[in-house]
Amino acid sequence: MIRKTLTALTLMLMFCLTIFGTAEAARAKAELLNVSAYNLDRETVRIQIDYRGRLDSSDINLNVSGEKMILDLNDTASGRINRTLGRNIQATNIIDNVSMNNADKTRTQLVFSMIIDFDADGYTANLTADTSGGRNFSRLIIDVERTNKSAIYHPEPSYGDVYGNIDGDLSGRVITLDAGHGGSDNGAVGPSRLTEKEVTLAVALKVERMLAAQGAQVIMTRTTDVDVASPYASNTQELQARCDYANGAEMFISIHCNAFSNPQSNGMETFYSSVNSESYRLAALLNEELLRYGGLNNRGVKTANFYVIKHTACPSSLIELAFITNYEEERLLASDEYQERLAQAIVAAINRFFNGY
Ligand SMILES: [Zn+2]
Repeated sequence: MIRKTLTALTLMLMFCLTIFGTAEAARAKAELLNVSAYNLDRETVRIQIDYRGRLDSSDINLNVSGEKMILDLNDTASGRINRTLGRNIQATNIIDNVSMNNADKTRTQLVFSMIIDFDADGYTANLTADTSGGRNFSRLIIDVERTNKSAIYHPEPSYGDVYGNIDGDLSGRVITLDAGHGGSDNGAVGPSRLTEKEVTLAVALKVERMLAAQGAQVIMTRTTDVDVASPYASNTQELQARCDYANGAEMFISIHCNAFSNPQSNGMETFYSSVNSESYRLAALLNEELLRYGGLNNRGVKTANFYVIKHTACPSSLIELAFITNYEEERLLASDEYQERLAQAIVAAINRFFNGY
């Protein structure tokens, strides 16, 4: 009997809380429902904020500064979003984290921590309100987009008929190899389910073997299928853990495969950051040798602000071997023989870099 009364009391209490909660949300013009983000294309990340209700443009305020993007929503209740906030955010390579402040009850603030620096890296954030959703649902869209879309593009470096030695002498050289992705992060996945993380590791291990045979000291960010920081690390922590392996090294090469929604996209490209002036030379040599050994469409040598090449002090390059999303290139990337050729290309470029030819 007593137990029944208690149960009834508990139910009444829960009922009151539900009513109270709803009433609280109903007092605000809008209630947050979901925050998510995805890669729209190679240059753009789209953030979607769904809410119940309607806001006027004067209620919505977006500010970007450095590596923070702050969205203030007046008269908006956070609802139950805390539980799911950030869950669909980290799939992108641009947003590190999102947090929420609603200290004052008439306003909700979303703070996005970015890997990019809006000012330094040439990104903009464009906000559009889509209130066309039926049944009183609305959506805000923030597109974070590179402003300098063409980057600095060097079509094809020309070194004539110089061939890199793949059996040279690299005694005493200290080289860090970063096999992109790993562990909880598959990277891109091809149409036949080949994962980027397995290709990058296979190629990196072949390069390691060849460099070691030439007397180099090779530092690997990973040699097995693992996260370098931890499976629960943020994007920044994971990428910084890879950069940490470049401390004391004379060169850092990060190996990746490209991916795009259009399966026709194809080819190889190499990237450098302007942080170190020697990085362009490294990226150009890698580009030329990958073209020579790999034979794919050359997308060029480009600047980029990828975290791992921006935050390493030594000459560094990030290379995209081929498109894993392209059926034919996925087949090549899966082949041991083709991986061996790609590894030879990287070793040839490293020899040329250190020996100045
Ligand atoms: Zn990648």
